[in-house]
Amino acid sequence: MTDVLDPPTPADAATAVYSLTLEQKAALGGGASFWRTKEVPGVPSIVLTDGPHGVRFQASAGDHLGLGASDPSTCFPPAVGLAQSWDPELARRIGAALADESQAAGVGVLLGPGINIKRDPRCGRNFEYFSEDPLLTGVLGAAWVQGLQSGGVGASLKHFAANNAEHDRMRSSSDVDARPLREIYLRAFERVVRDAQPWTVMCSYNRINGILASQNHWLLTEVLREEWGFEGAVVSDWGAVADRIAAVDAGLDLQMPGDTAADDAAVVAAVEDGSLHVSAVDRAARAAARTALLASEGTRDVTVNVDAHHALAREAASRSIVLLKNEEDLLPLAPSGSIAVIGEFATAPRFQGGGSSHVNPHRVDVPLDEIRALAPEADVRHMIGFTTDGSADAAELRAEAVEAARDADTAVVFLGLAASQESEGFDRDHIELPADQIGLIEAVAAVQPRTVVVLSAGGVLRLAPVDAIAPAILGGALLGQAGGGAIADVLFGVVNPSGRVAETVPLRLEDAPSFPHFPGEHSRVRYGEGIYVGYRGYDVRKQDVLYPFGHGLSYTAFAYEGFSLRADAEGVLATVTVRNTGSRAGREIVQLYASLPESAVSRAPQALVGFGSVELSPGESRELETRIERRDLAYWDDLLDRWIVEAGVYTIAAAASSRDIRVEGTVEVVGDDTFVPFTLESTIGELMAHPVAAQALGAAIAATPMGQMDGGDTLGMDMEKMMASIPIGRALKSFAGGSSEMLQQMQAMLEGINVPAQQD
Ligand code: BGC
Repeated sequence: MTDVLDPPTPADAATAVYSLTLEQKAALGGGASFWRTKEVPGVPSIVLTDGPHGVRFQASAGDHLGLGASDPSTCFPPAVGLAQSWDPELARRIGAALADESQAAGVGVLLGPGINIKRDPRCGRNFEYFSEDPLLTGVLGAAWVQGLQSGGVGASLKHFAANNAEHDRMRSSSDVDARPLREIYLRAFERVVRDAQPWTVMCSYNRINGILASQNHWLLTEVLREEWGFEGAVVSDWGAVADRIAAVDAGLDLQMPGDTAADDAAVVAAVEDGSLHVSAVDRAARAAARTALLASEGTRDVTVNVDAHHALAREAASRSIVLLKNEEDLLPLAPSGSIAVIGEFATAPRFQGGGSSHVNPHRVDVPLDEIRALAPEADVRHMIGFTTDGSADAAELRAEAVEAARDADTAVVFLGLAASQESEGFDRDHIELPADQIGLIEAVAAVQPRTVVVLSAGGVLRLAPVDAIAPAILGGALLGQAGGGAIADVLFGVVNPSGRVAETVPLRLEDAPSFPHFPGEHSRVRYGEGIYVGYRGYDVRKQDVLYPFGHGLSYTAFAYEGFSLRADAEGVLATVTVRNTGSRAGREIVQLYASLPESAVSRAPQALVGFGSVELSPGESRELETRIERRDLAYWDDLLDRWIVEAGVYTIAAAASSRDIRVEGTVEVVGDDTFVPFTLESTIGELMAHPVAAQALGAAIAATPMGQMDGGDTLGMDMEKMMASIPIGRALKSFAGGSSEMLQQMQAMLEGINVPAQQD
């Protein structure tokens, strides 16, 4: 890598924009073509292109819709795969490799990462997103952005925000309450913006609580810029702008795709007739200019080492495979004897998703070839078993496969979804594997007790029927172009699997917390499950699941031996000692979950607040120190309209999955100030909970008829409890015969308490 110059500052962008005409500034706010921005004096044109897991650069000028072929590039594991590595360092290295590929193609901004939360297993684009959990998503997303931007190429954090379904995505309103919006859907965006400052954020197609993301002032200006300190440009998703004037006014900086000449002219006219303030156009021009200057300053001469990138793609894929099940240590396989490899995906692997992220890989590892390469002595036979397009006689294919499986020492059966069954642009309406594949695995497992299943799919599947019969299962998700080699590495133990599921695998689709609220109707989706998304929802209802969030086995075993917690101003430092008690080297991902049983708000039984990993040789033990950041203990208080860390004794668990808690401890955390000023609508209970108010209130009430009442048992009620819910103003007026003078006195007393309490 050559030296990257000091990046231009916002002031440089302001200087570049200073001498531009209004027309030129408006032009900067819209694309020139499908993938290019406009050039104006002092500001170069740059290329933005998809992303995220490879560079989909279309050199051909003929393709104005972005739908055609693209130049070859490395297809790294899509987010659904990479997330299973739980490895931010790996995400960072992939980001840096993508920067090199972008540089070589002349791309200034790579359109990713996609960090929307996997709210429902049916979302067609879940393969492009990391997880159902905002912490895992945010940590991986931030590392990916840092890696990419360290190479002088900008990221575009997408799709901002609450874009959790494909159905009706350009009109639909995601109707979300403040708490889930902040705690689940915006939290990862907030983390990546604060920690990695992506050059751009891409606003989504959908509406949020009725307002298009591209026209949402609250989202793009108040939250993104004013609260989180975003310094970059807001780019529209391709075609997300319905009204450019309203969008610029709300905080949008760059409308894509181009050519936007007509909308640029409308911006000029709106400034001239006074309906749009010129400061909004200036802001957008500065932001767009800054992005272009960053990209041009970051330009480097790079020749991509495609072999090295393929090797990185293989390393990433092998780290992302999850060993879901391994009865009697069936895996790893010996590279000898006879192996029946069954399934179309063994020769035509499914390794990426369909839609705008679809890249044209340099090369693709074919699993069957890779199995043969790692087991040259073994007798490896392949049977197709089924076709995904129904083009052959299913019964015949199955019979052949069953026979081969019966004759072999082991069967390895590749199952999954075809590209046509899941993609950007539509959602699935079920999470079943095709019936012929279930029939096949049942028939194979009936004759071959040593049956291993390898799964490839971008979205979660209902795996209960497979789990019921297959003794060993590898969760491959989508693994990119080197997935075939990685699968062989794990099958034969060249790599000890260490991946963990990043999305719960439920027993049934109907168990998913969002099930009745997806995909909505009349262009509205009510996020009725609130904060109870993913494991938070399964846990709060104590539902059994097939594979819990964070689940993944290894060819070795780990013991958690010591655990200590220390709270400080930045959060909590957790130290756990992990020992490899098995006979192979391996990597253990330690997950930290926090609970606060005595919380004043409704909470999930546990939430992921940190994670880390250790690589250990057999018998080795090591201390793993993980910082739980204070912000990750916070909940969104919708009364105070801000994050609050509640005071209390938190339970922190160190776990091998969300349902495999190994050690637990408690730690006392000092809380944030949560004082809500008292008014006459404050209840007696609220006042009695405050030491100063309780004292003053006691004296004030004692003199009234209420104070003479028997607090213990009136009308068979607990009077104290009953009175606790009565607002003090109405208690005085209606039950204590209070005069307006008495109410005024109470008001003055409450204000007397409020002033010093707020100054504390
Ligand atoms: C997708 C974006 C993508 C853009 C450009 C849109 O349809 O939602 O993720 O970056 O197209 O291809």
